[in-house]
Amino acid sequence: MSKAKQLSELQVFCSGCRNCGLAKTRNNVVFGVGDAGARIMFVGEAPGADEDRQGLPFVGRAGQLLNQSLGEIGIAREEVYIANIIKCRPPENRDPLPDEIAACKELLFAQIAIIQPEVLCTLGRHAAMTLLDIPNFKISRDHGTALNWRGVVAMPMFHPAAALHNPQNLSGLRFDFQQLRSLLDRKK
Ligand code: URA
Repeated sequence: MSKAKQLSELQVFCSGCRNCGLAKTRNNVVFGVGDAGARIMFVGEAPGADEDRQGLPFVGRAGQLLNQSLGEIGIAREEVYIANIIKCRPPENRDPLPDEIAACKELLFAQIAIIQPEVLCTLGRHAAMTLLDIPNFKISRDHGTALNWRGVVAMPMFHPAAALHNPQNLSGLRFDFQQLRSLLDRKK
């Protein structure tokens, strides 16, 4: 079965998910979007209000900065795959709870296993710590440095929302995308 077909079957399964309390407050499950055969997969933290309304990840201001950062290294949003650690919006944008992450993580792992990206980029501290499980992780120190996660090249990056709040993080985000560009060029 093609990757696209496997993803769409997983999406149908997720659309009816009631594995945690967020099922009661969400408007839409934000499954993920992009090319099923993408070389690069991004994983953010959780959908916000815009994403919950549209059922798509990174469509608000942070998403615009993500698209722009991709454009700056010559990549179109349509070429990558974008998902989040959890697929439903936490009320008032609070941090996801451990049981919500536990309920959703296997679905993300299944998505990663289908896509098999060459590079897995986490956006922000929470996504890096939750997914990559790096002991003593520090986003300010460890961002932009590739590492091996279960045999996949992973790169923790700043979250575009953090870059919108602080110019220092914006230069950090630019650095991360340059690092991603160099990594892809080396892998060509
Ligand atoms: N922030 C995230 O972490 N994910 C989104 O989809 C939007 C904003």
